[in-house]
Amino acid sequence: MKRVAIAGFHHESNTFVLVPTTRRHFEQVGIAKGQAVIERWQGTHHELGGFIEGSRTFGFELVPIMAAYATPGGTIASEAFEDLVGEMARQLEEALPVDGLLLALHGAAVSEQYRDADGEIVRRLRKLLGQSMPIIMTLDLHANVSAKMIEHTTATVIYRSNPHLDQKQRGLEAASLMGRTLAGAIRPVQALACLPLIINISKQYTQEPPARELYATIDSVMEQTGILSASIAMGFPYADVEELGAAFVAAADGNLAQAQAAAGWMASQAWQRRHEFVGALPSPAEAVRRAVLAPEGPIVLMDVGDNVGGGGPGDSTVLFAEILKQHGKDSLTILFDPEAVTACVAAGVRQPVEMAVGAKTDRLHGSPVRVKGKVRTIADGVFVETQVRHGGKRVNDQGLTAVVEIPSGNSLVLTSRRMQPVSLEQLLSLGIDPERKRTIVVKGVVAPRAAYEPIAREVILVDTPGVTGANPANFSYRHRWPNLFPLERDTAYHGEQGSVGVLSKP
Ligand SMILES: [Zn+2]
Repeated sequence: MKRVAIAGFHHESNTFVLVPTTRRHFEQVGIAKGQAVIERWQGTHHELGGFIEGSRTFGFELVPIMAAYATPGGTIASEAFEDLVGEMARQLEEALPVDGLLLALHGAAVSEQYRDADGEIVRRLRKLLGQSMPIIMTLDLHANVSAKMIEHTTATVIYRSNPHLDQKQRGLEAASLMGRTLAGAIRPVQALACLPLIINISKQYTQEPPARELYATIDSVMEQTGILSASIAMGFPYADVEELGAAFVAAADGNLAQAQAAAGWMASQAWQRRHEFVGALPSPAEAVRRAVLAPEGPIVLMDVGDNVGGGGPGDSTVLFAEILKQHGKDSLTILFDPEAVTACVAAGVRQPVEMAVGAKTDRLHGSPVRVKGKVRTIADGVFVETQVRHGGKRVNDQGLTAVVEIPSGNSLVLTSRRMQPVSLEQLLSLGIDPERKRTIVVKGVVAPRAAYEPIAREVILVDTPGVTGANPANFSYRHRWPNLFPLERDTAYHGEQGSVGVLSKP
């Protein structure tokens, strides 16, 4: 039986966040090694869950190496990167011989030393495994795909759903490509086409136009005989890197020209519609007014500038303060604030508290708000999600958590760890029924929709300030391409073989 190594390294690095991501941040979400990789990820909706299930379907022996994950945040500290990636390479070396590697990366990881950290990982692993070894990689839809990533891998499969609900399917797809490659049934070659285009974060919901139509081009390409896989990465605008922007990847069976043509065609289709990918959102005052005046709730206000899934601190008070200012009732806001949790624990359940909450990470996300209230609940912050939700994680840990009720039915959930709001279990596990709330502040853009859309009367994306603000013109980039639409509105793209080019690995 063929032996296939599986490994994962996931980090979405926001280079505008000042707090670096360290090994401790990875430890908080999880570093699994050897058999623990299977124990942790088996049966999940994650791509690693897909690799594991795929090994049975496609008949290869799994060799679990290592999987390291951290919540999106600042640039990865050099020490943490060397530590974790070095460990992964050592474990892989010890596990040799293997016949292939299934590798789950994000594609927007940046370390202090390597702006293209994912490219560096595949370069090292390729060097270790040799040129002829199949390395099949999965990437997040928010990858900024580099030529280096494509050059050192055999095929690439990128999520096609935002929120990311197809992670397991993509893992299975990668496992299928691996199984067929090892059986000698196919010989994947891949090509990459990069566009000088930033797709605004507010236009990335794949269930609605224009993103829905963008992803339909994948289906057209997949109908071609000889095409093995087709992918689109919408890019991650909060990483100041050379490869920032939308990217198109296709894998064909032994036919590089076909892969190049397919990637180039998808890119040209997107380029023709570039004006549809520019965003404009309501201000906090306007959005809160709409929520307060709505006849019925819950109205979900997406705090775009403090998107935890994009590296936001999770403690912005901009919308919370605006709700109080406009005398909003029955609202719910989750804030990352370990200090406030400590104060609640010291006061005790049912006891009054008076404290300043939120906006403690930096000065970019509002100011701390003074509140008077009562501690309703103190919980361990661990919750389990079994449904298909963005990120595909089952067990989640938001750290010691306090629920505080303040006047007019407004509630605060205060957490000790930053947690992406992609599961209603985050609230249900605390005894909060989000459906009874009138306004819910959710710190994300698209990822939370899978959880919140079923209960929301309306979802409003809000143009809040912060490290994940919607308008890329508010960020000062140093490393991106000098011409990117819509920042430079007269940017030109010269078609399939244009200046930005089709890059490929024979
Ligand atoms: Zn993503």
